[in-house]
Amino acid sequence: MWLHPRYTIDSIYHLNPEQLANKGIKAVFSDLDNTLLAWNKRETAAEMMQLKQALQAAGIRLVVVSNNSDERVGKVLTPWGIDFIARARKPLPSGILRGLRKYDLSKKQVLMVGDQLITDVQAANLAGVGSVLVKPLVETDKWNTRINRFFEKIIFAIFTLTGRKVTFEEQLK
Ligand SMILES: [Mg+2]
Repeated sequence: MWLHPRYTIDSIYHLNPEQLANKGIKAVFSDLDNTLLAWNKRETAAEMMQLKQALQAAGIRLVVVSNNSDERVGKVLTPWGIDFIARARKPLPSGILRGLRKYDLSKKQVLMVGDQLITDVQAANLAGVGSVLVKPLVETDKWNTRINRFFEKIIFAIFTLTGRKVTFEEQLK
């Protein structure tokens, strides 16, 4: 099902780089707001840098895939030397597919991590890469995200009713 995440974990910061490397993962694509950084506290980047370095040590690239403009995403990420694909147009798969071409990756080598089913998970599934849903880092969201959250609740209820309940694990299974 195109909205069902392949994996669900508490946070991107629960990823285990060695475990990913053993699965053949070469790149983690990640949403920015509320997945890597709290959307209202973008300056708290220490954890993000630790994750980037831990992934790098395991031979895995971290690439942010965001719907925001180059200018806005670049302002946040360029000082930290983190690669990004901007104007990704999630839930369309085009930004992720652009990332696969740019870094010469196959679909099996990539996980896309995000906190929203309707944008991040759907884009990953449509692109054919492994989708990972995480809990949002902070509960307070922008107004447009709050609308998505409303539909997410309905979708989660449908998953539960159809025997595909989504539960957040501490680690990738
Ligand atoms: Mg997000």
